[in-house]
Amino acid sequence: MFDSNIAIIGAGIVGLAIAAKLSDKFDNLFVIERNKTFGQETSSRNSEVIHAGIYYPKNSLKAKLCVEGKKLLYDFCMKYNVPYNNCGKLIVATSTTEMRLLEELKQKAFNNGVDDICFLNDSETKKLEPNVDCKGALFSPSTGVIDSHSLMKQLETNSINQGVQFSYGAEVVAIEKNKNGYEVLLKDSDGRDFSFKTKMIINAAGLESDKVSGMPGIKDELLKITFCKGNYFKVNPPKNKLVNRLVYPVPNPNMEGIGIHVTIDMGGGVKLGPDVEWMSENVYDYSVNKSQNNAFYESAKKFLPFLEIDDLVPEMAGIRPKVQKPGEAVRDFYIQEESDKGFPGFINLIGIESPGLTSALAIAEYVGELIK
Ligand SMILES: Cc1cc2nc3c(=O)[nH]c(=O)nc-3n(C[C@H](O)[C@H](O)[C@H](O)COP(=O)(O)OP(=O)(O)OC[C@H]3O[C@@H](n4cnc5c(N)ncnc54)[C@H](O)[C@@H]3O)c2cc1C
Repeated sequence: MFDSNIAIIGAGIVGLAIAAKLSDKFDNLFVIERNKTFGQETSSRNSEVIHAGIYYPKNSLKAKLCVEGKKLLYDFCMKYNVPYNNCGKLIVATSTTEMRLLEELKQKAFNNGVDDICFLNDSETKKLEPNVDCKGALFSPSTGVIDSHSLMKQLETNSINQGVQFSYGAEVVAIEKNKNGYEVLLKDSDGRDFSFKTKMIINAAGLESDKVSGMPGIKDELLKITFCKGNYFKVNPPKNKLVNRLVYPVPNPNMEGIGIHVTIDMGGGVKLGPDVEWMSENVYDYSVNKSQNNAFYESAKKFLPFLEIDDLVPEMAGIRPKVQKPGEAVRDFYIQEESDKGFPGFINLIGIESPGLTSALAIAEYVGELIK
């Protein structure tokens, strides 16, 4: 006898999107979250950009789910009045070499089905962003920003309305495989233990997803997560008014990050970030060191000539759950039902870094298809 049909571990954007989607079809769904409410970790510490799907390798899950997820996300925002701004984005080249790289990027985007991007020369770019300097740019009209908290709240509401039970302040500390499913051991915020039986588990535990996968005994060195911090600096007023849309540099080829960029938020704030800071240990350190402002300044002044170092103040940081190691080539999202490893009914989502927010609704559909 099972207490739950499907237990989803983690109430970040991915767990919430899966709960809302699966509750259309399945009943007796639990979401288990160690924090007091949803979205307290990576899902509330990011750029909140709805990505177009430009950067990712052809036929990767990142490319496919980002392009599908973007469309689903705009439709969802319109249906439920979730605030968003389809502001568009410029990827700017500041040298002749970077102009060549933009050509490659445009081709990559086309290969991924992103067919709305176009080249702008320097004067066309100036018409859109008079305060940005570059030799030329790619313009992506379908990129935007979203209020991620409102999005998550709406997904939680939809899930609750469809009967999903949320258990907040409950940390999964052990999982045992039994004859027909799994027994999940939890610790609540007062340190009390309790357990329940479930037929299926969906591991959407973000930064802890490798550990959760290891709990019943799934072993895979390739799925070990390394924390990789992304710091942000705010651009102080009045200079935050000098940019109207997202402005990105040409990305670094191994895609550890996509370059320190200008992000605008729904409240009119402008920030620079995220950088790429590999952490020597997997610790939850969200502090931003003020002395890093010089690196941000040096990186952004190439295309933001109005910027002065004192315009930048530390804002926040997020942590990427990387399965890629420092210096290695980019890796794809890992989304698998683990029957082949001897764990039927256990679905792992590991390494869900950017574009995980954009892709969340498409990830949920993909997970739905993995359930036999
Ligand atoms: C700096 C940065 C910038 C980014 N920018 C963008 C962007 O602009 N656009 C975009 O599309 N994506 C972006 N991303 C990626 C995006 O934020 C993530 O892909 C997404 O938030 C991942 O969501 P998640 O639900 O998988 O993880 P999380 O939000 O981390 O949720 C996982 C949840 O699992 C819970 N949990 C963990 N272990 C346990 C346990 N044992 N028991 C119970 N609960 C547990 C955690 O408390 C957490 O709430 C960015 C990421 C970073 C770090």
